[in-house]
Amino acid sequence: MSAQSYQYIYGPVHSWRLGVSLGIDPLSTQEKCCNFNCRYCQLGPTLNFYSTREVFVPVDKVIEEVLSLPAALKLDVITFSGRGEPTLAKNLGDMIRAVREVRTEPIGVITNAVLIGRVDVQEDLLSADFILAKLDAFDQASLQEMNAPAPGVAFEAILAGMKEFRKKYLRKLAGQIMFTRHNKSQAARIADAVRDIGLDEIELNTPLRPSPCQPLSPEELAAIKPIFSRCAPAVKTVYELQQKPVSPLNREETVKRHGSYSEEPRGQKE
Ligand code: SF4
Repeated sequence: MSAQSYQYIYGPVHSWRLGVSLGIDPLSTQEKCCNFNCRYCQLGPTLNFYSTREVFVPVDKVIEEVLSLPAALKLDVITFSGRGEPTLAKNLGDMIRAVREVRTEPIGVITNAVLIGRVDVQEDLLSADFILAKLDAFDQASLQEMNAPAPGVAFEAILAGMKEFRKKYLRKLAGQIMFTRHNKSQAARIADAVRDIGLDEIELNTPLRPSPCQPLSPEELAAIKPIFSRCAPAVKTVYELQQKPVSPLNREETVKRHGSYSEEPRGQKE
């Protein structure tokens, strides 16, 4: 399979949190497919909210691409993410388990956690080795301000879903918080909200790739970091971690999911 033929896998990219990460997009829709419309989203505005779980891509098509990866490709992780919210894919769990049959790398899911309270979503996520869950808000108004969710999405339900999932999920559960000028002053209230989840790690991010929001400076993010010290055993910021240059297999498919992509270090999705 030529690099141009990949439709469902993208990257690898060098993630500040994960190392060399191959992305699998279980949605692979032309239009962004999400139940959030985050003000900083690098994929552009959400034109239509998706709230129902569907099969977007057959598992065997994804496995066909995974099996065709170059033998010399060295990866640290495989991550389910892409053009929207991966838990909207009804066959996410089947995909994770099928990839595990043919690859040895740890497999993760980057999620906005909107559906994490659902039993079927929890069952899918239990198959992953690590979960990175978005937590940018502390109440319904701040959720609206930062993430502009689909109608009916409630902050308290997301938080309760995270706590319930934590009880079942014994592998790495990290919270990722995107800070911009809009929620910078809310750090202490976000920390209070997430403290009881039992997260293994907190990752503090700011939009370093093209986004409608300006990033915070290294000094601003460093000042926020201690506020989260009681929320998880490890707290990291995007500015602290080393990135290595890495070339994606298919630049076009990577840019579609990851926003503008530079092979130079620095830059992140969510
Ligand atoms: S940042 Fe992620 S969760 Fe937010 S709108 Fe974009 S794709 Fe959806």
